This record gives sequence, structure tokens and C-alpha cells, in this order.
Amino acid sequence: MIMKNERRDFLKTAAIISLGTATHISKAGNLLAVEGVTSAFELPPLGYAFDALEPYIDAQTMQIHHDKHHLAYVTKLNEAIEKEPSLKGKTLEELIKNINGTPESVRGAIRNHGGGHWNHSMFWQLLKKDTKPQEKTLAAINANFDSMENFKKEFEKSAMGVFGSGWAWVVVNNGKLSIINTPNQDNPLMDIATKQGKPILAIDVWEHAYYLKYQNKRAEYVSNFWNVLNWDKVETLVKG
Ligand code: MN
Repeated sequence: MIMKNERRDFLKTAAIISLGTATHISKAGNLLAVEGVTSAFELPPLGYAFDALEPYIDAQTMQIHHDKHHLAYVTKLNEAIEKEPSLKGKTLEELIKNINGTPESVRGAIRNHGGGHWNHSMFWQLLKKDTKPQEKTLAAINANFDSMENFKKEFEKSAMGVFGSGWAWVVVNNGKLSIINTPNQDNPLMDIATKQGKPILAIDVWEHAYYLKYQNKRAEYVSNFWNVLNWDKVETLVKG
């Protein structure tokens, strides 16, 4: 475990150093490198052990998903911002809410890697074993989907309906919940999303999220998701 954390810290530091250096060079030797460092996005810690979600999501999948995939989104997002200094200093949400207004040279990169960073940062927090739906969540689900059973059925159907890589979400709009899909790393906060809203629940259905354990059996991964969904987190988002 110590080794893994050290490696993660090393990779993070390496990403920041390389960004700082690029900034330093682009500013022709002045000392604004620090500016580059402070504006760089960082890989957030997973917050729990890689094996915390076993047997439903295996440790190796979690490690690769967090330490490799998520890190790559963060690194490439920072690279895109380095290429387009007008984006420096913006928050992640400001970036992904304005894909249409993003300079064309980095629009795809901000969409994919900014989206990837936001989506995974949320997803890690939505995973925890042995939690139960709480009062506000149950009320909202019953009001919008008639029953928990029906909600789960609708959500699983939506997750199974994502063609290729993408996400299924529950979003809230003026108190109303709805289930939507997005392709790739798009998300419901983006101005380009066909349906928008504030996400309160999400499942990553990219194959990298489940293939090592489930191979082509996405349905099994999706039905096991209920065993690792962090209903405590969902409750705070429903309230907020
Ligand atoms: Mn993923």
C-alpha cells in the first residue's frame, strides 16, 4: 500500500513539475512557474483502499481506474490549459459548463479530459459498501419513479442502453429527478449535453470500469452496482 501511494504521489508530482517547467519556459525565464503549479488540476485521492469494494468491484480495476485512467485525464487537461492560457485560473466546473465557448484548438481536450476529471472525481465519492437509501432520497425516488424497485429497473435499463463508452446519471432539475445517458466523458453540467441537470448519482459504464472482472457482462456489473452505491453521498446531493 505504501508503495502504491508513493507511486501515485510521484506521478502527481511529476505531472505538476512538468507543467511548471513548461510554464517557466513559455514565460521566457521569468518566475511565473509557480502560477502554472497553482493552477494545475490534481488527481484527488481515492479516499479508501483499492479493495474496499470487493467482491463487487475488484482492487486491480480500482487501482488502474484511479491511478492510470483518472490521472491521464488530469494530466491531459493540464496540458490543454497550458496550450490555451485564457483558460488558466478557471474552475473545473467553469471549464466544462462552457464547451461551446472554448477555443477550438483545445475544445475536444477540455470536453474529454475536463469531463473525465469531473466525472471520476464524483464517481469515487459515490462508491461505498453497506449504505442504505435515506429519507430525502427515498422520498424523491418514490415521487419521481413510483418505487425504488422501478427506479432501479429504469436506471439499469439506461446504463445498459449506453452504446460504447459513457455514463448513466440521475440528475435533479427544479426538484424533479430524471435518468439520462451521456457518451464518452460528457456530463449533464456541460452546455453541449442534450439534457442538463445537477448530477446526484452516476455509473461509469466504460469497459475499463468493469472488464477485468466482468468481461462483456455489463448487466452483472450494473446490477452489482447497488451493492457499492454510496447512498449517504446521494442523500447529501439530493438535499443540496
Ligand atoms: Mn472511468
